[in-house]
Amino acid sequence: MNPFTYARAADTSDAVRQGSAAGVKYLGGGTNLVDLMRETIERPASLVDVTGLSREIEELPGGGLLIGAGVRNTALAEHRLVRRRYPLLTRAVVSGASAQIRNMATVGGNVLQRTRCAYFYDDAGSRCNKRSPGSGCDAIDGFNRNHAILGASRSCVAVHPSDMCVALAALDAVVHLRGDGGERRIALTELHRLPGERPDIETMLEAGELITAIELPPLSGEARLTYRKVRGRSSYAFALVSVAAVLDVADGHVRDVRIAIGGVAHKPWRAVRAEAVLRGGPAASLAFATAADAELAEARPLSGNAFKIELARRTMVAVLEELAGEIA
Ligand SMILES: Cc1cc2nc3c(=O)[nH]c(=O)nc-3n(C[C@H](O)[C@H](O)[C@H](O)COP(=O)(O)OP(=O)(O)OC[C@H]3O[C@@H](n4cnc5c(N)ncnc54)[C@H](O)[C@@H]3O)c2cc1C
Ligand code: SF4
Repeated sequence: MNPFTYARAADTSDAVRQGSAAGVKYLGGGTNLVDLMRETIERPASLVDVTGLSREIEELPGGGLLIGAGVRNTALAEHRLVRRRYPLLTRAVVSGASAQIRNMATVGGNVLQRTRCAYFYDDAGSRCNKRSPGSGCDAIDGFNRNHAILGASRSCVAVHPSDMCVALAALDAVVHLRGDGGERRIALTELHRLPGERPDIETMLEAGELITAIELPPLSGEARLTYRKVRGRSSYAFALVSVAAVLDVADGHVRDVRIAIGGVAHKPWRAVRAEAVLRGGPAASLAFATAADAELAEARPLSGNAFKIELARRTMVAVLEELAGEIA
């Protein structure tokens, strides 16, 4: 590990002031960043600990929630209002990592955790454009069972690993940011970038910008929601495919629907094509299958992950059928 300095931020302004210097990284629970520092893939000169800031979950007028970036994953999953109003978020969070890691990990850190592509971690022996821009990508013709089928590029085929972000994408979550230029908000679905030619630039954050909170808009009281994660073993594994969905049905027809897919792209993938097919139509299996096919029409498999296309299709259909069945 490279030498670094450590400081706790006194408040948000102090964090942003310290975070705007070169070589500084914010420290959440450290469960991803410190691992990457041990491997010398991340080499910050200084860490600014932001875990003491924004640890509250507040109810907003109208029924939404404002979740501080420093809220631990366990506290988020267990919160009374999260469990009652956004149970898919609880399901997504508890499906990730181990209880010990969830006790440490923060909301801000989870959103900004980095890919689990094995070649990205293999500093000594692999080519990786994300770690070392312009060097190549050993995953494209290598072991790519876990990699992307949507939105990938010739430069990078990695997937975003977060379960929480998939739920947040389906909930239309909004990320609150604070930087040198003041405060701003960005939709969670717009925060992470597709790889294009610059997979090393992973988000729309500006240098030194701090995530202060995540806002969840209120949901219609009629909406049903869930999160399903498919993985190689039942614990301690990242998603091969996951689906978060919110379905609101009236008189057998889809009044509103929001679907996000995990494990398939460089970002939590909002299934806007499938949603467009479903909105206003029958809440029925055939329509669900047509919608899933529409979403996956542009999927492009790699040598080792063609199975993910069918897996994503079946998982989407099964999740929607489950939600429609609960309503019927
Ligand atoms: C064995 C193992 C299994 C795992 N399995 C899963 C899984 O199945 N599903 C899953 O989703 N995750 C999984 N994880 C990942 C885990 O959820 C993340 O490591 C964790 O969420 C990161 O949160 P953190 O607070 O520790 O972030 P940190 O490691 O502290 O930070 C991560 C990044 O976020 C930045 N950051 C932190 N807070 C802020 C902020 N407020 N504003 C701006 N930047 C910030 C840091 O600078 C860093 O770049 C696993 C991890 C391990 C080690
Ligand atoms: S897929 Fe992306 S992260 Fe993985 S080796 Fe290729 S460039 Fe690196």
